[in-house]
Amino acid sequence: MTERRGIVDLRSDTVTRPSAGMRDAIARAEVGDDALREDPTVNRLQERGAELLGMPAALFFPSGVMANQTALLVHASRGSEVVLEANAHIFDWEDGAAAAWAGVQLRPVATADGMLTVETVERALRPRSDYQPQTALVCVENTHLSSGGRVMALDTMREIRVVASSAGVPVHLDGARLWNASAGAGIAVAAFAGEADTVMVSLSKGLGCPAGALLAGEGDFIERAWRIRRRLGGAMRQAGILAAAGLYALEHNLERLEEDHANARLLARLAAGIPGIGVVSPETNIVMIDVGETGFSAEELASRVAGKGVRFSVFSASRLRAVTHLDVDAEGVERAAVALRDALL
Ligand SMILES: *Cc1c(COP(=O)(O)O)cnc(C)c1O
Repeated sequence: MTERRGIVDLRSDTVTRPSAGMRDAIARAEVGDDALREDPTVNRLQERGAELLGMPAALFFPSGVMANQTALLVHASRGSEVVLEANAHIFDWEDGAAAAWAGVQLRPVATADGMLTVETVERALRPRSDYQPQTALVCVENTHLSSGGRVMALDTMREIRVVASSAGVPVHLDGARLWNASAGAGIAVAAFAGEADTVMVSLSKGLGCPAGALLAGEGDFIERAWRIRRRLGGAMRQAGILAAAGLYALEHNLERLEEDHANARLLARLAAGIPGIGVVSPETNIVMIDVGETGFSAEELASRVAGKGVRFSVFSASRLRAVTHLDVDAEGVERAAVALRDALL
């Protein structure tokens, strides 16, 4: 069992700690001043990331939020409009950054299941006008976090790209968990990335790095992003220390994501067998657990299972969220299900 101190922490796939192998890669990293573009490990990670994503260039960021916000700052001028799904991370979970920094107007599109469709996007694109805000960007998210890690179909991404492009609007892919979309759908990350103009991928979620994200796109986009990253205070120096973790993760932790998905399916199956519990069937590594019928609030249940060494996050008043990751194995997931069952007694 790999859980720390006997705690099964399923609050997020961001709670992982670097493994011994990753720490070793960090210790051995060759470094230089990345603000002078002289860190060989950062350069290698950017090249490897671009190659995997099938994009001309990539840039290393301290976080996914900074990479997403940089994409907005490059693509969209102040007062322009950005179309996205109504529960997108950029809308709900970046603390108003799009308004605070890029000064853009977000146009959230409500959907039943977190999945934008070509029709909903097409309706949200503004006509050319001297009076209405002008659509500067469409953002898609894959996997979609708040719907429970759903995978947006490649065809849907392609259709959205086609209508956006024909309106002269670029598409940014928030692919924090694009690796999971790829493992879940059995489709290469480059195929998904190929249906967007720019893409952000996280290294600190399912891949288990202590920090980092990559933003990828055309060379001139990345040059503009380089200046914005600097302006935001995100230019680092001997960042090869962090990039080494990224390179290690791409080599060792990508292939194993299907294990996390299998553990998510196991948890979903075990939880669904508990009376009163409803489960959204997981497509990747996120399990949404509905507790409304149990007579307990999500908050109460989260604290009861925490008393048994299992941690879920409270997603809403009646919904818990569990995210599987490389620090929790099948045995940990079984313990989590037992804790949930016992918490109801
Ligand atoms: C986590 C996440 C981000 C932001 O990444 P950080 O590295 O936490 O800043 C962006 N989008 C989605 C969908 C995410 O899950």
